[in-house]
Amino acid sequence: MPVAVSKEEDDLLDLTSKVYKHVVEHGADGVLQSELWKELTLTSRDGSRLAIRLERRGMVRRDKILDGGRWTYKLTPLRMPVRIQSIEQAPCITCPYESKCSLTGVVSPLSCPWIHEWVIKEFRDSISPEIANDGLNILRPVATARMK
Ligand code: SF4
Repeated sequence: MPVAVSKEEDDLLDLTSKVYKHVVEHGADGVLQSELWKELTLTSRDGSRLAIRLERRGMVRRDKILDGGRWTYKLTPLRMPVRIQSIEQAPCITCPYESKCSLTGVVSPLSCPWIHEWVIKEFRDSISPEIANDGLNILRPVATARMK
């Protein structure tokens, strides 16, 4: 799966990830867009583009609310990870193929090398080195058997 991402697109993907992380950190109560743009020093135009992007991906909800006599949006996470660290490096957040990815599609998490690498790395990082090596050795015969 070749990835051709321009510097501008790369920056946008990185910012999308940062916005999502900040929304999640504010928890189930959500956060006003204007507060978030101040925290991240984003213009409201750029911030809104990123928020809309996350909304389209089903990761946040945008509710129009009146705050101090001005209309704004409140962003609330739709998916709360168990730990914020668990999604920081998740490849799906910044994946250029995310909108085309599904279990039955040509682009699928079932065959995605990035998600595969990420899961293995997270698994290794979450346990001691000895167990990680044993654990991966235990998983290997299962994976091999499935391919037969
Ligand atoms: S599973 Fe892979 S292809 Fe699909 S969105 Fe995640 S990183 Fe992208």
